[in-house]
Amino acid sequence: MKIYKTGIDHKNWKGGITKRGKYLYIYMPFHPHAIEGRYILFHRYKIEMQEKRILKTNEHIHHIDGNPLNNELDNLKLLSRKEHYSLHWKLNNPVFNKNYIPNKRNELGRFTKK
Ligand SMILES: [Zn+2]
Repeated sequence: MKIYKTGIDHKNWKGGITKRGKYLYIYMPFHPHAIEGRYILFHRYKIEMQEKRILKTNEHIHHIDGNPLNNELDNLKLLSRKEHYSLHWKLNNPVFNKNYIPNKRNELGRFTKK
């Protein structure tokens, strides 16, 4: 099911997907959120096709394996902006990492060597 017109039938169609920075974009000239040059983020496109709706700008897509080029649906997670930021904050904060072992301190409060 098509929820909006893709660029495929556009007369200047040159094949759709391009990499800019660390993300892939897809040519989507009629998309309401298309950026300059009429592209949208490819991972948002994938989720929009799955959800059959246009994502709101405060809806984010998280790449589960941390690779922004892995746009398989099982690597993508739809989150609110708030959920996404708090998830990244946790991922970047070693206290929330279950493999994190804090350095031990001695009686003087100094870190001991591992
Ligand atoms: Zn993320």
